Amino acid sequence: VLGKSSGVGESRILVFVRLRPMAKKEKEAGSRCCVRIVNRRDVYLTEFANDNDYLRLKRLRGRHFTFDASFPDTTSQQEVYSTTTAELVEAVLQGRNGSVFCYGATGAGKTYTMLGTLENPGVMVLAIKDLFSKVRQRSCDGNHVVHLSYLEVYNETVRDLLSPGRPLVLREDKQGIVAAGLTQYRAYSTDEVMALLQQGNRNRTTEPTRANETSSRSHAILQVVVQYRVRDGTMNVVNRVGKLSLIDLAGSERALATDQRTLRSLEGANINRSLLALSSCINALVEGKKHIPYRNSKLTQLLKDSLGGACNTVMIANISPSNLSFGETQNTLHWADRAK
Ligand code: ADP
Ligand code: MG
Repeated sequence: VLGKSSGVGESRILVFVRLRPMAKKEKEAGSRCCVRIVNRRDVYLTEFANDNDYLRLKRLRGRHFTFDASFPDTTSQQEVYSTTTAELVEAVLQGRNGSVFCYGATGAGKTYTMLGTLENPGVMVLAIKDLFSKVRQRSCDGNHVVHLSYLEVYNETVRDLLSPGRPLVLREDKQGIVAAGLTQYRAYSTDEVMALLQQGNRNRTTEPTRANETSSRSHAILQVVVQYRVRDGTMNVVNRVGKLSLIDLAGSERALATDQRTLRSLEGANINRSLLALSSCINALVEGKKHIPYRNSKLTQLLKDSLGGACNTVMIANISPSNLSFGETQNTLHWADRAK
């Protein structure tokens, strides 16, 4: 229903923007709202020349931004889930793969959108809840098996968030690229999942200088794999597998800072190799290129079978309303615009 229809072999990425409410800290710092969402699609950025100046509506690149949908700060978690991800859950139950990314600067609302809170669970939890309810409707024979894995890419090191320990090695096998030894948690119901994911999130690498704070450089990937059997046209039983990947990306502010520098300093810093590689893959997919540079990072290797091709890819760009984040918001919107 959403967006343009895509032809065979063409990779269409659905791009959404979510504006979060103004935070208390931002209010106290005297910030003003610089983002306006109109008709649930169009995003206007307002740049304040200085605090005393009246609003100056700045049309970036001579136009405003428009996306498949843009969510104002009053949008519920459920609505974000229904609009962005519900169709992918349906696709996974038909044996297809899909992926949903949250992109944006640190503090823009990625983890809130993906994981959420106990009172307001996010896309990861709502997707699993919906998946179980659809599985129950569909089969009374316990045919569907659901496995979860939750992992982190931090400085090009892959770690199991459900069973922290040594870094995991990526191997190529018949099924594609797999993280050797990764926990495959067999899930039977939704109840256990939120606690599991929250614990997993606490296992994310923290910034050495800011203990207990999740590093803005860590990518968290939840993979939900559904296996089931169906009878094909000749009544033979065949196995089907669908995989949904839900990704809480590292903060984009460093990627943008690093983008300007040389490749060499990037190699040294190793900070956003995965984020930059993801950008290159998405741009290559959107431009319809034959060669997609998956091999350039751990993140893109892990998601090789869940990006492009017959897959459904969804991008949610998270932004803050505060004029203090104007630059980051502008960068995020430009990035999201290029992914369309
Ligand atoms: P990120 O993961 O992008 O660094 P967070 O998701 O941690 O950002 O969000 C930063 C803060 O803003 C958190 O305290 C979070 O609870 C709050 N927040 C983010 N998005 C929303 C939202 N849509 N509604 C209410 N609070 C939000
Ligand atoms: Mg976060």
